[in-house]
Amino acid sequence: MYDTIIIGGGVSGLMAAYAASQNNKRVLIIEKNKNLGRKLLISGGGRCNVTNRLPYTEIIKHIPGNGKFLYGPFSTFDNESIIDFVESRGVSLKEEDHGRMFPVSNQSKDVLNVFLNALAENKVDIKYHTAVTELMIQDGRVTGVKTKDETFAAGNIIITTGGRSVPHTGSTGDGHTFAESAGHTITELFPTEVPVTSDESFIKDSTLKGLSLKNVGLSVLKKNGKPRITHQMDMLFTHFGISGPAALRCSQFVYKEQKNQKKTHIDMMIDFYPDDSKGSLSETFDKTVKEHPNRALRNILKSMMQDRLAEFMLEYLNIDGDANSHHIKNEDKEKIIQFLKGFVFTVNGTQSIEKAFVTGGGVNLKEISPQTMESRLVKSLYFAGEVLDIHGYTGGYNITSALVTGYTAGNSACRE
Ligand SMILES: Cc1cc2nc3c(=O)[nH]c(=O)nc-3n(C[C@H](O)[C@H](O)[C@H](O)COP(=O)(O)OP(=O)(O)OC[C@H]3O[C@@H](n4cnc5c(N)ncnc54)[C@H](O)[C@@H]3O)c2cc1C
Repeated sequence: MYDTIIIGGGVSGLMAAYAASQNNKRVLIIEKNKNLGRKLLISGGGRCNVTNRLPYTEIIKHIPGNGKFLYGPFSTFDNESIIDFVESRGVSLKEEDHGRMFPVSNQSKDVLNVFLNALAENKVDIKYHTAVTELMIQDGRVTGVKTKDETFAAGNIIITTGGRSVPHTGSTGDGHTFAESAGHTITELFPTEVPVTSDESFIKDSTLKGLSLKNVGLSVLKKNGKPRITHQMDMLFTHFGISGPAALRCSQFVYKEQKNQKKTHIDMMIDFYPDDSKGSLSETFDKTVKEHPNRALRNILKSMMQDRLAEFMLEYLNIDGDANSHHIKNEDKEKIIQFLKGFVFTVNGTQSIEKAFVTGGGVNLKEISPQTMESRLVKSLYFAGEVLDIHGYTGGYNITSALVTGYTAGNSACRE
């Protein structure tokens, strides 16, 4: 008989197991894989962006999927607690741009080892290569779990099975089935932080494939042509659509707008010069032409932007790039400025939930207490991590959410 069993030894399960095993409590992790923290190891490109040092309000802003719920768990354990937890166990962290925290060693395995050592110290039992198949519930209280061959009894169960993204790491959505068997509702699951697909001819024929753009304004447009969301970051054209930070952040809004508009194809827009007004861009263009009156239009444009973008724009707008820039028609100049400040193109979706960095949707938060992470429906049953209906942008926000909900769940179970 264990005090607490944790289903899934990923990011939130590791932290939940540590917190639940304080004060000599008997804790067991049951993990499907033959090792723990597989997704943690590949996180942040193998460097593990373990949390973010921005203030709460900024963190919540970067978790568009129910970030406000985290104010509850933050009162027990927050981003600074994560930093203390890792650093006090001998792994120094460094802050990079936008508050992102990484181990100084740039090795995610160092972060994983912090957890493995803490679990060993607290004598947490670990059953590897074993999938939980069923929850045992009696009289409104969880009593244990079943695997294919065994039954395990426990006072508390914490479900930390993750979402449905990158399933080869073990997160295949089992926790949603367990939650439903306990009477919970699962909000619609969808891919987030994932590349966006397009069947525009310039994508299909790879005209722009590999073109990487710095600091553009990328928007998902509503039916009325106004932006639903804009992210000013880098992006990249690929052979299937667009990727890079701005595209990943926009992806969930592509999914939502497709549903809102009841259309497979919706519009996105790129502002190639988000820090310049149309007027100042027009002035820069005029100034360059004045300085080089005999240059061909193509060469004027190439001095302002990447060659491939200039060539594409001229062809797209059907403007003669060989013409002397001094003689450019006003109407053509207007078209160029309009293109650079608002190039609209269609997209037809995103890549799959399996390819997404993060799963949107999950266990309905109305059915979970934010102070303890306990189910409001079944006594002694807790949830933490991506199995819940919480999803953030990339930048350390998802691991933060997994760790703070994991700690809160484990700590509450420990006090039971
Ligand atoms: C490539 C990639 C890079 C990422 N990088 C970052 C980053 O740098 N920073 C960041 O904040 N976020 C990052 N994320 C997101 C972040 O890794 C996840 O949000 C986080 O791992 C979720 O933690 P979790 O504990 O809920 O689930 P997971 O870490 O996915 O763990 C779930 C665990 O449960 C186990 N399991 C599932 N079902 C069962 C079962 N039936 N029985 C037993 N065990 C089971 C799985 O095997 C797995 O070990 C990244 C995601 C990906 C895909």
